Amino acid sequence: MPTIQNPRLAGLACIRCDRRYEVADHSTGCPACLAEGRPMNLECVYTPGESTGVDQPYLRPVTLGEGRTPLLTDIAGAVPGLDVALKWEGANPTGSHKDRFSAVVVSRALCAGYEGIVAASSGNAGVSLATYCGRAGLRCEIAVTDDTPARVVELMRDLGAEVVSFPRSEHRWEHVAAYRDSRTMLPVTNFVVPPVGSSPFGIEGYKLVAEELLADRDGRAPEWVVVPASRGDLAWGIHLGFRELLGADAVPRICLVEPFPRVAAVLAGADLYATFPGSTRVMPSLGGNQLAAQAVEAVRRSGGQAVAVDDESVLAETRRLWRAGFPLEPSSAAGLVAVSRSLAAGTMTPESDVVVVATAHGLKGM
Ligand SMILES: [Zn+2]
Repeated sequence: MPTIQNPRLAGLACIRCDRRYEVADHSTGCPACLAEGRPMNLECVYTPGESTGVDQPYLRPVTLGEGRTPLLTDIAGAVPGLDVALKWEGANPTGSHKDRFSAVVVSRALCAGYEGIVAASSGNAGVSLATYCGRAGLRCEIAVTDDTPARVVELMRDLGAEVVSFPRSEHRWEHVAAYRDSRTMLPVTNFVVPPVGSSPFGIEGYKLVAEELLADRDGRAPEWVVVPASRGDLAWGIHLGFRELLGADAVPRICLVEPFPRVAAVLAGADLYATFPGSTRVMPSLGGNQLAAQAVEAVRRSGGQAVAVDDESVLAETRRLWRAGFPLEPSSAAGLVAVSRSLAAGTMTPESDVVVVATAHGLKGM
């Protein structure tokens, strides 16, 4: 049975101004907000109808068995003083949450008649997209930076991707931007400065994290969902899922985890489109000095918070977790450090009901 577009997918809407657009690949986000110099991503809109869970833009999507990842509870001593649960996204086919995104964007590319996809990634997204393109028989081009670990580049190539390398992150984005009007290669990751985020179709795949969490907890939403973030695709997608299932007033609070203050700075009054100083050596998945507005909205609309965590603490936590049987990559272990910080700050208490999204396993060496 072929992949088809959901007949109830009615269009896309701007997250900020709510202007509506037809179903198409608006890879620079809302044209009206972009023209005002305030880029903003779009979200999928569906006509009401029968649905057993969150709406998805493609039916019978390309799949390798992603999702339905385990919720690991009873993690004694994972965070002293708090019994957190881990949503173990490392159990996805290529070891990260990106497989949820890939399944949907590759389905989008197939249904819209593209020959392949192009993306900027130095890690999990590139490996995941290469794998799903292979499954779907699509071409895959990944733009990496020269400091991407050779092992990761080899993985992408072994999976059939064409890998092109650039000195700096901006150069990757320029490369992807050259495909913005292509009818053969679909750009699926951000190339706009300031960033908007990734394909809104792919982000829909992250709504399933919310659906699975409710299913695993007998319909009970957690108080906090802790999500490591760069441009906030995952955090925004999880928020969208909860909003769809519970209503905007009953969503869990998003605790967004970042390697230095970006969202935290904006919440404290900084300009959303500023360049935020800081860097990280051990959390490359969470890097970047500019923000996408969707990351801030996930926190604001859920009454959440943003917590910055430092490399040294994250490395120490990663080592501890590996030896306790949880081989998380440092960008994921960062979530547990954020919980410890929140306990110390009093924004979480030992009674808080917290789920940490453990975004990727560490065995790829990222
Ligand atoms: Zn707009």
